[in-house]
Amino acid sequence: MSLHQMTIYELHTLLTKKEVSSEEITKSVYKHIEQVETKIKAYITLTKAQALETAQVVDKKIANGEKIAPLSGIPVAIKDNICTKGVQTTCASKILANFVPPYSATVIRKLATQGAIMVGKTNLDEFAMGSSTENSSFHVTSNPWDLTRVPGGSSGGSAAAVAADECIAALGSDTGGSIRQPAALCGMVGMKPTYGEVSRYGLIAFASSLDQIGPFTKDVTDCALMLNAICGHDRLDSTSVQRERRDYTQYLKNDVRGLKIGIPKEYLTQDLDSAVRKIIEEAIDKFTKLGAEVEETSLAYTEYALPTYYLIAPAEASSNLARYEGVRYGYRDMEASDVQDMFVKSRSTGFGDEVKRRIMLGTYVLSSGYYDAYYLKALKVRTLIKQDFDQNFQKYDLLLSPVTPTPAFKFGVKAANPVQMYLQDIFTLAINLAGIPGMTIPAGFANGLPVGLQLLGKHFDEGRLLQAAYTFEQNTEFHRRRPVIN
Ligand code: GLN
Repeated sequence: MSLHQMTIYELHTLLTKKEVSSEEITKSVYKHIEQVETKIKAYITLTKAQALETAQVVDKKIANGEKIAPLSGIPVAIKDNICTKGVQTTCASKILANFVPPYSATVIRKLATQGAIMVGKTNLDEFAMGSSTENSSFHVTSNPWDLTRVPGGSSGGSAAAVAADECIAALGSDTGGSIRQPAALCGMVGMKPTYGEVSRYGLIAFASSLDQIGPFTKDVTDCALMLNAICGHDRLDSTSVQRERRDYTQYLKNDVRGLKIGIPKEYLTQDLDSAVRKIIEEAIDKFTKLGAEVEETSLAYTEYALPTYYLIAPAEASSNLARYEGVRYGYRDMEASDVQDMFVKSRSTGFGDEVKRRIMLGTYVLSSGYYDAYYLKALKVRTLIKQDFDQNFQKYDLLLSPVTPTPAFKFGVKAANPVQMYLQDIFTLAINLAGIPGMTIPAGFANGLPVGLQLLGKHFDEGRLLQAAYTFEQNTEFHRRRPVIN
């Protein structure tokens, strides 16, 4: 096995035993990128010089006998909507194509404190709006399992980079499914932590009451290590929650005996591909055999999650994206006749179609006369959706569901029809509306394409998600299969 194919903890062990250097690991990753990146196109920017410098710093520490953190010397990729000081951060948008942040996001500073190596910035749907990464204004990213298919989105670049071994782990953001959906379509582990568990300071905002940063990894152990590195209160993010620090690796136990798992029936009846259904049913059997108590349950408001999300998320987006007007930073149209014209032209040229669609929808539902009928109504339904989950968690430790209705689809098949694309997230959106944690793990293959399963828990119960995921992983082989890129 080559170094770039390994996991965080495998490499950490080799580093601490001084059997490899971080420089060797980092070079192995970039050499592999040279071989496959023209096919995958996971990255927008690569930061090789900086990465090799950091690797040398870590190697010196190891040589001096210093104890290193689990992520020290490990190459990690970052979704390009997370601010990185001195390194272009584009949101895959023309409007931010030349934006170089003067500061780093809290998660970036936390990774840097651990000594992690940033490989580069990964592709996404513009401003994280989309489910296939086809909305990037730069280029599309291919699914490493089948280059004619999408990697999912909006964090498609991060998911594809991990799956193609172009990094060891990655960060993404999840507003309605953007970590879990691409992780599932690329056969990786992905987690959206509880709202408030990870600081969003420096994450370029899409929908502030829904956005959350989380990891993409090759297995569950690495997920716990990444979560350990990025979680915790941050005084720079007023929505981050002050809690006692936990070591998430303590939950990596092969045991689900007595665990109560609910299966929301609404998630198995909606247009679910038959191969995906079969895999989910097999996973349910597996959990039962391993000693979990599995039972059918109901999330009665499921059908309202999508319309509710598509009122709240665009409303918040229209407000967050008002700051891009060509004055303070980002793209400015230089031909404009006056300042009003400059706003209009900068925004018209700078934003892509999907972003404009959301801004228009959001502005509409927030406008006087429509606010009560749409936005306020959506907030009320959001509360019902949250209560639906709360009630279920009085009875169950976890809920289990599919992540996506189908495996990865071909380029272009949904791009022309926004509603078709929105339906990709039918099983993931409600989780953000409720603020609870959700996790995707590999659960099987349909015609050679990976299929994931989703585990949902109560607020701040990431530990239990990890334990259930770890147990499933220890008793299956799906996470070991790697794509052959050709
Ligand atoms: N696909 C959903 C959307 O386009 C979710 C995106 C996300 O989680 N960032 O809004």
